[in-house]
Amino acid sequence: MSSAAVNSAECSVSPLDRSVDVITFEFENIPSSVIDRLAQEKPVHPRSEVLHICQNREREKQFLAARGYPHVPFRIVSSEQEIRDGLAALGTPAVLKTADFGYDGKGQQKIENSGQIDISGLAGRKGILEKWVDFDCELSVVCARGTDGQLSTFPLAENIHHRHILDYTIAPARLPEALQREATDIAKSLAKDLEVVGLLAVEFFLTTSGRLLVNELAPRPHNSGHYTFDACITSQFEQQLRAVCGLPLGLPDLLVPACMVNLLGDLWVNGRKMGHYCVLGPTVDEAVAEALKIKTELNDATRR
Ligand code: AMP
Repeated sequence: MSSAAVNSAECSVSPLDRSVDVITFEFENIPSSVIDRLAQEKPVHPRSEVLHICQNREREKQFLAARGYPHVPFRIVSSEQEIRDGLAALGTPAVLKTADFGYDGKGQQKIENSGQIDISGLAGRKGILEKWVDFDCELSVVCARGTDGQLSTFPLAENIHHRHILDYTIAPARLPEALQREATDIAKSLAKDLEVVGLLAVEFFLTTSGRLLVNELAPRPHNSGHYTFDACITSQFEQQLRAVCGLPLGLPDLLVPACMVNLLGDLWVNGRKMGHYCVLGPTVDEAVAEALKIKTELNDATRR
């Protein structure tokens, strides 16, 4: 069976959809109408409704709230008065995000007090005002769901962000087993509720009071899952293909602790993800120490 991945450059119906058996995507900013159109010809996984929900923070948050998933308190806002009301309800600090086409902190603004409101970043679009979360760490799980509903999760990973961009990922997360189970159970339940076929990456905050809150959903392979290429029996991309092609899912087991570090190009404003490296170690702490040593050496070398 052949499959095809659609990316932003291929957002139109082409002979591609006639030559393949099944279509999937690994990028969210595709109009869901394109997926609807392709779905008239061939099976597309995940279905367009999943993309429609996950590519817009308003729909995503409303889905989480309606289904009772733990999430960051929020308000939908489109005017200064609504932001003011939202700040009164949620408290400060808070963060204002555009509802669509936002990722890696783009279109985000932290508001420390009501004197700091600036709605120009919304550019007339709707926004999400979120309570600022004091967290101990950020976490993610990549969950796969097959055409038969079979579910499988990769190990819970710890994510360290720098300036809103993923800096490095540690797997497995250094957290008690009960918390790991809680996060993977939430991810599986979300994949089932959304009727995802393919992958669903779920990002969490672990608050300083020990609560898991869902931050974001991505129905595709995720940057924080790149450690699976080197450290797991099955990689997240193989798992996506297995899921969308109706094959049995691969084993997600971690063979060795890993630390994946993103390489950000400094030629672009604020850095841009250019690649990554992954360090495997006998223990998590050793993998992290070695990965960070290499990172320091690379930073020193590029500054020279
Ligand atoms: P996002 O694009 O919403 O995932 O945000 C990017 C990063 O900004 C997150 O991974 C966090 O590090 C930070 N961030 C986003 N929302 C919040 C929040 N409500 N409270 C604290 N930090 C946040």
